[in-house]
Amino acid sequence: LEVTTVRKDFPILSREVNGKPLVYLDNGASAQKPQVVIDTITRAYAEEYSNVHRGLHTLSNISTENYEAVRGTIARFLGAGSENEIVMNSGTTEGINMVAYGWAMPRFEAGDEIVLSVMEHHANIVPWHFLRERQGVVLNWVDVDETGALDAQKVIDAMGPKTKLVAVTHLSNVLGTVVDVKAIAAAAHERGVAVLVDGSQAAVHMPVNMVDLDVDFYAITGHKLYGPSGSGAIYVKRERLAEMRPFMGGGDMIREVHKDVITWNDPPMKFEAGTPGIVQQIGLGAALEYMMSLGMDNIATHEATLRDYARSKLDGLNWLQVQGTTPDKAAIFSFTLDGAAHPHDISTVLDKRGVAVRAGHHCAGPLMDHLGVSATTRASFGLYNTEAEVDVLVDALALCHELFS
Ligand code: PLP
Repeated sequence: LEVTTVRKDFPILSREVNGKPLVYLDNGASAQKPQVVIDTITRAYAEEYSNVHRGLHTLSNISTENYEAVRGTIARFLGAGSENEIVMNSGTTEGINMVAYGWAMPRFEAGDEIVLSVMEHHANIVPWHFLRERQGVVLNWVDVDETGALDAQKVIDAMGPKTKLVAVTHLSNVLGTVVDVKAIAAAAHERGVAVLVDGSQAAVHMPVNMVDLDVDFYAITGHKLYGPSGSGAIYVKRERLAEMRPFMGGGDMIREVHKDVITWNDPPMKFEAGTPGIVQQIGLGAALEYMMSLGMDNIATHEATLRDYARSKLDGLNWLQVQGTTPDKAAIFSFTLDGAAHPHDISTVLDKRGVAVRAGHHCAGPLMDHLGVSATTRASFGLYNTEAEVDVLVDALALCHELFS
């Protein structure tokens, strides 16, 4: 990956923040957009816009064709067996809620169990709490070890006769830990347990393949994939699609509606009610094509180099503690500093140096409890980041240490 060339694809990277060149290390929250995504959105609105699926006029046909083509792009990106297993939506939060309301709620009874890891994002926690509160479903939490690793065997051992679902992240947005979801899915299926994977972070940083992983549900979110906010998808295995009830009702997801009778459209349309995020989704298609043109393996290799470089630099700071130290983790570094410095203060000082990071609980309350901290500062790298930017981060952190110790 030729990072100097790649950086030219992202117009925002040439701007300054507080008089300093922007060093954007908040990719875990949302990634910047390449020009091809911006141009695609502009063209979709300026030349090709109309509603989809309904009209018979030229623009509606073009818009429908462009929108539906993205389903194929997502299927290719995820290595899904069929594009009919791709439900398009506004992102991971909608995808997981759809599974909770449409698949789990009608099937789960009081005492049934869901196995979760302690490092889940709230998007993969709160919908399951709804089932706990409303129908007495039990949440069975599996801890990570002191390196932040999630032992797949511990997840497998946590499955009992009442377990109906394992809901787990593929890559932690806080620790960078990668989870062996393939091993978990194989063992779960032997026990008749379904597996939902939160792929919000993993799909950004490494190649993923649904046929190979053989999970039941895999949620992704467009805004982290260098695409527009409000775009996304969830892969749902064919058998699960057949079992799932519609989550939202409205136009597009029906075949016929009468006063007393209603029939559904075929999946995946059955799960896409109302006018979708047409242009957002078309922009996501451009983003995924862009990533695939760079090559997911090349992106992963580049980010592994950045991870190793950042790790070597941060390990040298004896006043800074990194959370999550597994060797094959993603280039995501959450840390705390010795002394009273709150992550919000650290983030503010870094911002003055042009460095954008995230400070807070990262929507991972149970993990913060497990780590015994209320918040961390997080530097999360993307395909356009450089080793020189790691150096800027480290210099700015040294300033924080000086100011707050
Ligand atoms: N899951 C993980 C691991 C995330 O990092 C995020 C975003 O921060 C989400 C879920 C939620 O994604 P979205 O807000 O796009 O629905």
